[in-house]
Amino acid sequence: MNQEKLAIDGGKPVRTKPLPLEFPGMHHMDAKEIQAAVRLLRARSPFRYYGIKLQKEVEKLEAAAKAYGKEGEETGVTVGFGSLTGDAAGGVTVSADEAGNLSFAVTFDMSKISGGDAFAIDTGHEGTHVADIRNPLYADPRTTLSDFQREFRGYETSVWVARSLGFATLSYGRVQVWNRSWSKVDQRDAAITRYLTTREQNPLPETRPHNPWPD
Ligand SMILES: [Zn+2]
Repeated sequence: MNQEKLAIDGGKPVRTKPLPLEFPGMHHMDAKEIQAAVRLLRARSPFRYYGIKLQKEVEKLEAAAKAYGKEGEETGVTVGFGSLTGDAAGGVTVSADEAGNLSFAVTFDMSKISGGDAFAIDTGHEGTHVADIRNPLYADPRTTLSDFQREFRGYETSVWVARSLGFATLSYGRVQVWNRSWSKVDQRDAAITRYLTTREQNPLPETRPHNPWPD
């Protein structure tokens, strides 16, 4: 039996410093948020509708989120936040009811997502998976996608979103999957392929064509 006195009775308290005040979100702001705020201030455009050079930060997120439907709409897609294993920042779980109707649970791990731009990229990527798996071509074994092809299409969207957000490059781990200076789409294709086939977690064997579906 522990004979030590409780702190309330004059014993030594377990905690000597107060816990940090819990204002949700405050403790998760770091250099990325500071950079984003400085970017808005440098552009002299901290407002959504008022300014000379609007940064459209809100629109970016809204556009990416549109893939998931409006609030209250029955889209069969639920979005949640939680921790994902490995370095995955997003993931989709698919389930089917007895009638074969698909529903999707999209999860984002915000501890691996740095800011609104990265979230827009990941939202677009996971949204592509949802749209692809819903596509009747996916259910048909003759036209379905391999794991590689499904991810290839996901990363095509990631690159597309990054490019439209004005990124100069997009990298995962040590692999650059896109660089604004690349003049040929083949360079991007080769880079996405290199990433998918060599990444540490869940490397995927290449299948051709990389993207068998029309966009
Ligand atoms: Zn993916």
